[in-house]
Amino acid sequence: MDAEAAPSRSLAAPFRGVLRLCRSAWQHTARAALDIALPTLCVACREPVAGDGVCANCWAKLSFIAPPFCARLGIPFVYDPGPGILSMQAIADPPAYQRARAAVRYDDVARTLVHQLKYHDRTDLAPAMGRWMARAGRELLNEADILVPVPLHWRRGFSRRFNQSGALARSISRNSGVAVSRDALRRIRPTEHQIGLSRAERATNVQGAFKVAPERRAEIQGRRVILIDDVLTSGATADACARALLRAKAAQVDVLVFARVVEAHRSPI
Ligand SMILES: [Zn+2]
Repeated sequence: MDAEAAPSRSLAAPFRGVLRLCRSAWQHTARAALDIALPTLCVACREPVAGDGVCANCWAKLSFIAPPFCARLGIPFVYDPGPGILSMQAIADPPAYQRARAAVRYDDVARTLVHQLKYHDRTDLAPAMGRWMARAGRELLNEADILVPVPLHWRRGFSRRFNQSGALARSISRNSGVAVSRDALRRIRPTEHQIGLSRAERATNVQGAFKVAPERRAEIQGRRVILIDDVLTSGATADACARALLRAKAAQVDVLVFARVVEAHRSPI
């Protein structure tokens, strides 16, 4: 029996190899068929789309922010007042952070993208959104040492499962090579949602809500930090985070967000 068993064993190995090849080819074909059967849908309008993110129509509706804008706050100007000119808001009420930049204006399509990422676990949107942010923040990224995502309070992070700012920061890091500091900046008390609050109420709501963990100060001290968030509205959250980072002796804090609210009547001076 042994004499008969030997050749069958020697045939078994190549046979197994062929079988493996066939299985892999089949899986590849099945996956390709599935891609054809289930095309990616545009996250904003649900039309089929090639690649990730949004279709050409929705892409055209996204308002990418380009110069001219306020050198400090990144608020777009309706006409070009010349290099280095600041907006009234930057002069009257300067934030704790040095500069802010955003990829797009916070309008309908941008809102849909943010909500899909934040509340519907569409983590697959983060690579494209982070890519657009890396482009908008190139000037800041060239001078930065570390990216710090705006943290969630652990209770909210637990219910939502992941931090959207962290997902965006990881994508920006892949596009820029700037490292992400995870969990150095912490939200030390839960805050109310900022929606529906006035500017003053927003500032009070987040005052003292953030802190750099004492054992992580070395990651922040003397470093040029970019704070990463999904949306900039009044800037109150970014300001409170920047104050916490500066208290931990960050050399400089800039802010990079996916979308910012822009008031329609905003003018340069
Ligand atoms: Zn679309």
